[in-house]
Amino acid sequence: MTTVFIISAPSGSGKSTLVSRLLAGVPRLLFSVSYTTRAVRGHEVDGQSYRFVRREDFERMIAGDEFLEWAQVFGNYYGTHRGILEQAQATGCDVVLDIDVQGAGQLKKRIPDAVTVFILPPSRQVLEERLRARGEDPDEVIERRLREAAGEIRKYKDYDYVLINRDLAESDAVLSAIVRGERVRRTRIEDQIGPVLETFRV
Ligand code: 5GP
Repeated sequence: MTTVFIISAPSGSGKSTLVSRLLAGVPRLLFSVSYTTRAVRGHEVDGQSYRFVRREDFERMIAGDEFLEWAQVFGNYYGTHRGILEQAQATGCDVVLDIDVQGAGQLKKRIPDAVTVFILPPSRQVLEERLRARGEDPDEVIERRLREAAGEIRKYKDYDYVLINRDLAESDAVLSAIVRGERVRRTRIEDQIGPVLETFRV
């Protein structure tokens, strides 16, 4: 059975780094590459972090019911393609989704068994410092991201786990532990328990 792990966080909270480390450190995880209409940034390669498409193509995909969930974030469309679940099932993987709070809400309704993790920066001040240190955005964009972060953070109550990212190595260890722990929940491994019990029947 495929488990869906949903990870959300305000921009600048260290989510991308944590997700990369999770994928590198834990086997059998498939990252869901989202579709988006936003412009390609710096070193991004189409098909790796995102599949970049035109608005009209995205809208055609919405009309064709191709998305498990989709949302508008900062004026652009973002969506998770349905195909990811079949792909995960076929390869025996669990899925990792990096999606915003709206998408997480939609998916949790559709897949109640999904595991949701919210990553919080330790404070507004730290978030601001990280956004400035990245050197990617002008002041007004940073101000907007900070305002949006305040709104997103209020949604933490909808998540199963809240990870305060004070230290990257520590957060990495905790996130991996969440995935590994969820994988041995009784309800997820019922099919593996039967054969073990069988061996005790003499
Ligand atoms: P960015 O443009 O900075 O990469 O992402 C902006 C926001 O869009 C992030 O919060 C990210 O998690 C979210 N996002 C990325 N892909 C998806 C998606 O497929 N669906 C939804 N709902 N949000 C997404």
